[in-house]
Formats: sequence, structure tokens, C-alpha cells
Amino acid sequence: MSAKIIDGAQIAADLRADVAKDVEKIKAKGVQPTLAVILVGNDPASQSYVKGKTNALHEVGMNDRTFRLPETTTQDELLKLIKELNADKLVNGILVQLPLPKQIDPDTVIETISPEKDVDGFHPVNVGKLLLGHDTFIPCTPHGVIHLLKRTGIETSGAKVVIVGRSNIVGKPLSVLMMNKDVNATVTVCHSGTKNLPEVTREADILVAAMGKPQFIKADMIKKGAVVIDVGVNRIDDSSKKSGFRLVGDVDFEPACEIASAITPVPKGVGPMTIAMLVANTLVAAKRQNGLE
Ligand code: NDP
Repeated sequence: MSAKIIDGAQIAADLRADVAKDVEKIKAKGVQPTLAVILVGNDPASQSYVKGKTNALHEVGMNDRTFRLPETTTQDELLKLIKELNADKLVNGILVQLPLPKQIDPDTVIETISPEKDVDGFHPVNVGKLLLGHDTFIPCTPHGVIHLLKRTGIETSGAKVVIVGRSNIVGKPLSVLMMNKDVNATVTVCHSGTKNLPEVTREADILVAAMGKPQFIKADMIKKGAVVIDVGVNRIDDSSKKSGFRLVGDVDFEPACEIASAITPVPKGVGPMTIAMLVANTLVAAKRQNGLE
């Protein structure tokens, strides 16, 4: 079997095009959606993510206010900036690119962002709302995974979903979304304490890998005909590339294609969806803050 490749880049482009139409409409009403993006330090992967995010904002007609702060920034300096942006009526969303340098506590930073501007959906208030099924900002990567499944027409109701990874930004919120009634899956979440992982993953109708371990999920860990969603983004050495590295997912892609019925590639799978969901959340924030919902 040769799996259908789920085209995350195209699905994300369609979503951005929809957002752009809405941005035009609210601009006509005098609202200019604006996202503040804060990058602390010089981590190359973070710099590349921030570039991707600001490019997407511009593409859909939104403003970005990007702050590039030095590696030595103190927690107090960062919190002061966030508080100023919380109070700035022209800023609809605030995103602090993670990870942060070691002198800054990410939980304190996230809790300082106003929940109304927390377009990443990481603030405890928004996490609580997600769990309760209330309207909130849904974290972009898990939201992107759900959107990919829906747009690809994959049946989720009653499906057995196995998620490998329980992080606060991917695995945990995705498990909540997957068990919501509109998705209606039966969910198992695995982590480093899971015994006999391959036995569990082979049960999955939909297998989500979100571990950060390059090519860890082998073909013999996948049930024949399963849908495989690879969230992982890992840099591995590749001397044939100018950069000296290439990106791979958490799934051993080529052999997995022989077993799965559908699979997301890395890159151009979940990654572009994360960014598309960020601009979608920024649009929601701008509408809510201006009474346009
Ligand atoms: P974390 O490191 O926060 O979490 C990794 C999870 O995987 C943990 O729950 C960990 O278990 C689990 N895990 C690690 N090794 C194993 C193993 N051998 N067996 C079972 N479980 C294991 O990572 P993130 O959730 O932040 O990111 C995961 C991946 O997704 C990364 O590659 C990251 O780059 C990528 N990512 C991609 C995004 C995108 O837009 N495409 C966005 C965000 C992340 P335990 O809890 O026990 O330690």
C-alpha cells in the first residue's frame, strides 16, 4: 500500500486564504488585526519559526509587531513588555516564542499574558476552558491536527486514536480535542513510562507522533491502513544540504508509507497548519476585542 500524503501545505494555504478574506472585511470596519511576537535570544529554530509566523501574518493582511530581545533579557524586562502589550488596544494577540533562556520561567511569562490576547492558548484560564469545552483559543498545533483530519475527510467518530507524547502544547490539548463530541474518538496517550509502546501504537486507527525523537515510529509500530499524523520536527545532520541539516519527523516516513493509508509528511504536514491556526486565532482575538463576533 502506498499511503495518501496529506498535503498540510495546501490545506494551510486554503485556511490562510479564508482568513485573509475575513481580514479584509474587518479592516473595512476599521480594525487592523495585529499580533505582537516576542523572540528572546538567537535560537536558530526559533528564529525560523518566527519568520514563518510573520510571513503568514503579512500574507493574510495582518500587522506584526516583532520584538527581538537579547539572550540576556531578564524576566522582569520581559514581563514589563508583556504588560505594556496587554494594555495596548492596538495589539490583539501576544505570542512569546518558546523555549526561553534559562533565567526566564516560561510559566510565569505565559500567566502574564492577558488570556484575551493569548492566541497560543497556553494560559491556564484558556487551558481550563479547553478542558471544559468552552469557547477559547485552542493551541495551534493540536487545532491544526484536527483541521487536517477534518479537511482530509478522515472518519474520527469511534476511531481509536493513540497519541505518543503528553506535552502541554501538543499531546495533552490534542487528547482533549480528540475526545470532544465533534471528533468523538477513543483516546490513548503514551509517554516515556508507557510499557510495550509498539503494542499500543499498533492498536491505533489514527496514530499521532509528538515525541521529538527523529524517525522513532517504525513501520512495524503501525497498524495496516492506519492514518499517521507526524507532529515531530527534528533536525538531523545532512552534509548534502547547504545548511548541513534536514528536517525529519518522529515517524520513519518511507517504510511507514507502505503500511499507513494516509500520512503527513515532514516538512509540509502539521507545521504549516500550526502557523495557519495562529493567524486564525489572531483573527478571532481581533474580532472578539472589537465586538465583531
Ligand atoms: P516535549 O519534549 O515537550 O514532549 C515529548 C513527549 O514525548 C513527552 O511526553 C515524552 O514523554 C514523550 N516521549 C519522548 N520519548 C518517548 C519515548 N521513547 N516513548 C514514549 N514517549 C516518549 O515535546 P513537544 O510536545 O513540545 O514536541 C514534540 C515534537 O513536536 C518535537 O519534535 C517538536 O519539535 C514538534 N513540534 C512541532 C510543531 C509543529 O508545528 N509541527 C509544534 C510543536 C512541536 P514524557 O512526558 O514521559 O517525558
